[in-house]
Amino acid sequence: MVIIGIDLAGVPEKETGFAVLRKGLKTETRVLHTDKEIIKETLKHKPRIITIDAPLGMPRGRCCFDKNCSCRSAGAMRKAERALVKMGIRVFPCGFAGMQKLTLRGIKLRKYFEKKKHRVIETYPGSAQDILGMPRKGKGLESLRKALIKYGFRGDVKTAKTDHELDAITSALVGKYYLEKNYLALGDPEEQQIIVPRDKNQRRLFENKKH
Ligand SMILES: [Zn+2]
Repeated sequence: MVIIGIDLAGVPEKETGFAVLRKGLKTETRVLHTDKEIIKETLKHKPRIITIDAPLGMPRGRCCFDKNCSCRSAGAMRKAERALVKMGIRVFPCGFAGMQKLTLRGIKLRKYFEKKKHRVIETYPGSAQDILGMPRKGKGLESLRKALIKYGFRGDVKTAKTDHELDAITSALVGKYYLEKNYLALGDPEEQQIIVPRDKNQRRLFENKKH
C-alpha cells in the first residue's frame, strides 16, 4: 500500500516536498518542482491515495480570483478553514492574496489526478501536527523530525533536508488516518474538505484553544 504526500509550493520555482509512505511507516522523500515532475513521480508509485497540502477548492460561489469578477463577494474563506479557526488552528484562507496561486495549482493537480481515477484528499500538516501533539516546522526542522521518528517513521525521514519533505510525510500520515477511517472531514464537500486525523489528543486541543 502506497500513500503519496505532497507539500505543494505555489510556484514551480519553489520547492515542493514529496513523500512516498509505504507499509511499516517506511518513507522516501524528494524535492520536486514542476507539475510534470509531480505527476510523473506520483503516478509511478500507483498510490492508494494522494494527499496534497494545499487548498484544493474555492469558496462556494467563487469562480475565479479575478478582482473584477462579481464572484469576489463570496469571500476568501471556505467552511473548512472556519472550522480550523474554531478549533484554535491557524490557517491561511485559500482566497488570500498570498494563497491564490497555490489554490489554483492545487485545484489543477487534483483535477488531473481525479481524471486518472485517483482518490485525492486535501490535508493541512500544521493541523495534523497540532492534533497529534507534534511540533510544527516553525519550531525547527529537527524537532519535527524527532517527533516523526518517535511516531515510528523510518527511511528518508532521517535524512530529509527540507521542512517541505517532512510536511509531505505528515500529509501522507493524514492519508493513513483517512484510509483507517480515523479522520474528520471539515467543511463543505463542494468547496473541498480538509481532512484531519482523529486522535485521543484531539480532546485536549478542543479544550485548550490558546494552543
Ligand atoms: Zn469569478
